[in-house]
This record gives sequence, structure tokens and C-alpha cells, in this order.
Amino acid sequence: MRPRDLSRYLDDLGWRDPIDLPEETATITTDVAPPPSEDGAANAATAADLDELTRLLADCRRCRLSERRNKVVVGEGGARARVLFVGEGPGAEEDRTGRPFVGQAGKILDKMILAVGLDRQRVYIANVVKCRPPGNRDPKDDEIAACSAFLDRQIELIRPELIVALGRFAANRLTGTEKPLGALRGRWSRYKGVPLIATYHPAYLLRTPADKRKVWDDLKLVLAKLAESRQSTVDS
Ligand code: URA
Repeated sequence: MRPRDLSRYLDDLGWRDPIDLPEETATITTDVAPPPSEDGAANAATAADLDELTRLLADCRRCRLSERRNKVVVGEGGARARVLFVGEGPGAEEDRTGRPFVGQAGKILDKMILAVGLDRQRVYIANVVKCRPPGNRDPKDDEIAACSAFLDRQIELIRPELIVALGRFAANRLTGTEKPLGALRGRWSRYKGVPLIATYHPAYLLRTPADKRKVWDDLKLVLAKLAESRQSTVDS
């Protein structure tokens, strides 16, 4: 994406602060057609790579969400992505296509990714639950727990420089608290040693566009952290 296009996107969002675009990084995609497996979560913790994790998830029956799903939405992006975005769970369009954040909320997420100077190929996008909750209801605690080994292994395998939790479910899952998002956003914590920040879910921004400014404030912290880690790589 050219800087001119980025600037147009940010204007469109009402995000006008100047941004330094990070340098390009190599991308590896994990677009594989998985054969079925036995109950994959038992082995999730030892999956050698994202392809194996995808195969393990393909036939997962660990919770009731598997009964009505069309496709498991494992996640997508660079296998060595610098930033991991974690959403809540697939919606109708994601369940149909098997890809995360491809509906209306996905368009907002694309702009958030662009705002930190990256694009879909240079981040990884995953969800707390990999199968669609019927009618887009909230995922239940046991469903989140059933899927947790998969998300944890994605984090271990990708080893992102930082994680952005999108919305309350991702923020609660990754901070291990029940606090509302307003109390969690805008500050760094850690998950498995990886710096973690929470911000509002893109779907929330569709309903509450006035809070785009707060998301932009959070994304500026992400930009600063990425610049910091690039600098420490240069210095070392
Ligand atoms: N909302 C989410 O949290 N995840 C998706 O993949 C799509 C919408």
C-alpha cells in the first residue's frame, strides 16, 4: 500500500496523525488444505508448525461449536508475523470461507493493520475460538477453554513481537481477567512473555465510530513498540 493510499484510508477513518511506515518483511502464508485428524487439541501443544496445527484443527470435535460449523477458521498471515491480532470468533462470512475477518469488521481491521504500517500478509490474524458460535452469540467459557491450546500454540509458533487483543473476549482470555475492555485497553501487559495490548473490536467500531480515536491512540502505542523493537535490532 502506497503512503498516499494509507493517508486516504486514515482520513476516511478520521485518523490523521502522521505515521512512519515500517520496512517490508518477508511473508510465509499457511494456506493448506488440511486432511482430517483425530482429536487435535491433545496434540496441539506439540504441533511442529502452523500447517500441522491446521491439520489437527480440521476435525476438532472438542466443543459444541464443531457441530454447526461449516469451516474451521484457523487464522491467516505470515508464519513469522511481527504482530498477532486476536479476535473473538468467526462470523457467518468467515464460517463460509474459512478465513478470519472477511466481513464488515474485517474491512475495519484492514484499516487498523494499515494504520500500523503493515498489511494482512505481514501480520497474523487469529481468533479465541476457531469455529463460529451460532447466530454470532458470545463464545462460552468452556468453548474458549477447549480452543485455548490451539491459540497458545499459534502464539508459540509465530513468536510475534507483540499481540493486539481485539475486544473483550480476546482481552479477557489473554490477560486472564474479567475486566471490561475500557479498563484493559491502552496499556501494555504480557502474555507468555509477549507484549500484549488490548483495543476495541472492529465490530464495536462499526457500532460506535466515535471510539475510533481511542483505537488510534492504542495503535500509536503499537507503532511506537514496533519502532522500539526495530531500533533494538539495529543496535544489537
Ligand atoms: N469477528 C471476529 O472476532 N473474528 C472474525 O474472524 C470475524 C469477526
